[in-house]
Amino acid sequence: MIGLGLIGGSVMRAAAAAGREVFGYNRSMEAVQAATAEGFDATEDLDAALTRAAAGDALIVLAVPVPALAQMLGHIRDLAPQCPLTDVTSVKTCVLDEVRAVGLLDRFVGGHPMAGTAESGWAAGNARLFVGAPWVISVDDHVDPDIWTLVMNLALDCGAVVVPARSDEHDAAAATISHLPHLLAEALAATAGEVPLAFALAAGSFRDGTRVAATAPDLVRAMCEANADQVLPVLDRTLDLLNLARTALAEGSPLTELVDAGHAARVRYDSFRRPEIVTIVVGEDNWREALAAEGRAGGVIRSALPTLDSRG
Ligand code: NAD
Repeated sequence: MIGLGLIGGSVMRAAAAAGREVFGYNRSMEAVQAATAEGFDATEDLDAALTRAAAGDALIVLAVPVPALAQMLGHIRDLAPQCPLTDVTSVKTCVLDEVRAVGLLDRFVGGHPMAGTAESGWAAGNARLFVGAPWVISVDDHVDPDIWTLVMNLALDCGAVVVPARSDEHDAAAATISHLPHLLAEALAATAGEVPLAFALAAGSFRDGTRVAATAPDLVRAMCEANADQVLPVLDRTLDLLNLARTALAEGSPLTELVDAGHAARVRYDSFRRPEIVTIVVGEDNWREALAAEGRAGGVIRSALPTLDSRG
């Protein structure tokens, strides 16, 4: 594990609980000491961690924010270039570009566990954070079936369900269901903060609608800015809908259009099915395209898919 914050620390705990050998690096001594005190194998010496990973052909998991990626990838290229590599970053295309730039693309399969809290750091993590959560694993054109299988098994060991998706499609969807909600939550919290009595009356709607505004501002900026190309069209769409509602309110017209469309979409979400993907063999002809199509249709992997090798 490179980075033992909320997500890296949770992956470390979950992987260890699943019986895996896991060791990690963190740049601050505080998290290293806390992890070590809880019996985990952690160091603040990045070179030592990467040299050890290279010697054991370990799967390296990058769990640092986007701005720290280039520096970490440079160290991996220098000390552990043959290790299989994945990440947990909330945006995927920009990570792919960074990995390509350092020449590690053929060892890389991107990932994104869709779980988290508004807290940060080692102390915020827990071994059950990913239980039942979708964990996106990229099926971009370059991905190697053996490394894909390693990452799939890690996600399943952490209790997640695997959603196969292309990085660009992930980013378009994440812009809508993650980055846009962050912006809306910030706007809602800031607006309420300007209204006298608002906090005194605030209850469930305000708490739920602003929950993610409690996230560390650096992390929010990092993920929204890194996915600006995909955030802009969905932000425009939302602003259009809100402007229509504004016009209706100003004219004294009913809000029917926005409210009915929003309610219908939410009801569809509540009954959204996640069929299990069972028929695809990792490494067979067109396996990446087939997995991307199943993922797009809502399919998830709940237990390890066979590989060409395991089928003999
Ligand atoms: P965090 O703040 O809890 O942990 C960040 C980790 O990165 C810490 O270990 C920190 O020491 C390390 N780090 C930061 N800058 C560094 C640098 N310059 N050099 C070396 N290490 C550095 O954050 P987190 O929530 O665990 O986020 C980590 C990654 O997980 C991010 O890429 C984020 O997009 C992704 N992610 C977050 C969530 C969430 O809900 N918070 C969910 C899924 C994925």
